Amino acid sequence: MTALRDEIVALVRAEGPIPVARYMELALGHPRLGYYTTRDPLGRAGDFTTAPEISQMFGELIGLWLAQVWADMGSPPRVLLAEAGPGRGTLMADALRAAKALPAFRQAVELHLVEISLVLREAQARTLAASGVTPTWHAAMDTLPTDAPLLLIANEFLDALPIRQFQAGDGRWFERLVGERDGALVFGLGAEAEAAITLPASDGDVLEVSPAAIAVVRAIARRLAGQGGAALFVDYGHARSGFGDTLQAMRAHAFADPLESPGEADLTAHVDFAALARAARAEGAAVHGPVTQGVFLTALGLEARAARLTASAPAKAETIASQRDRLIDVEATGMGRLFKVLALAAADAPEPPGFR
Ligand code: SAH
Repeated sequence: MTALRDEIVALVRAEGPIPVARYMELALGHPRLGYYTTRDPLGRAGDFTTAPEISQMFGELIGLWLAQVWADMGSPPRVLLAEAGPGRGTLMADALRAAKALPAFRQAVELHLVEISLVLREAQARTLAASGVTPTWHAAMDTLPTDAPLLLIANEFLDALPIRQFQAGDGRWFERLVGERDGALVFGLGAEAEAAITLPASDGDVLEVSPAAIAVVRAIARRLAGQGGAALFVDYGHARSGFGDTLQAMRAHAFADPLESPGEADLTAHVDFAALARAARAEGAAVHGPVTQGVFLTALGLEARAARLTASAPAKAETIASQRDRLIDVEATGMGRLFKVLALAAADAPEPPGFR
């Protein structure tokens, strides 16, 4: 029983069942009771742990990636470095520290953070205080400046954007809705989908689309064509579009019922990287990947980074090795394989590192 669940039950009673996308939007972003609005969800005491929270090596390698891409762009004297959904700011702090290796890049950087959560904005300000770079915050991508090349990074951001779900039955598609029965939220099916879905499917197949994620990627791809630069999206998801219900809730590091406690559990869906790549290409961006996180980090030199860290802190050798393994693991947690990396760049830009 959560306050937000009561509110959604009342909403559904008044207005009828709502699409899954609207439910996700409310659960995560409700201005008073939403999950991201009310808490810092990360880390051991929270609900889930992300790659930058596992190891500083993740953000450091991305910092070197950013510096390299900037140098390949001809070292523009001003560059907009943006992060979407920066969490605690850990990735960016590690990236900026590693980028000290290229002081001219650090000098060129103007930092922009896209974050809806005021709680996390405060955490980001604290984490980045020591970096010497002062961020400007944005509630959405569309207020990012347009007058310089853009380097954008987003880790576990797209999975938090709302999805619509459609379910097949009798050769037709119906939108999945969230309704109410006896005070509990339940899934149901709405009217037949308004748009033709021509995919051959069996009864019960679920198709997911994220108009919000597609819109983000389109807008970024358009910017890259106009402003120049590159974007890096890291998230869990699939390289090919397919069927399946991937809506999931996480609470205290365990899977939970997605309708049980809106506002108190994280709610995500797998990212359809094939759909995003198509959208980016349609806007004229060059698309690199997706490759798995394991392949990407290994190509960027994770092994060498771990060896260097170990050399400067031999007592931490075991911890560093286990963090390294977790980032590229393909068995126990599967992070190295489930997570994919997709880069977008201006059409005429050289291939960014990590995709060979
Ligand atoms: N990138 C971080 C945090 C991932 S959690 C990490 O890897 O640790 C998702 C992040 O996206 C959080 O910072 C959350 O507040 C933010 N977020 C979720 N939905 C958002 C939206 N619609 N607009 C902007 N930020 C959003």
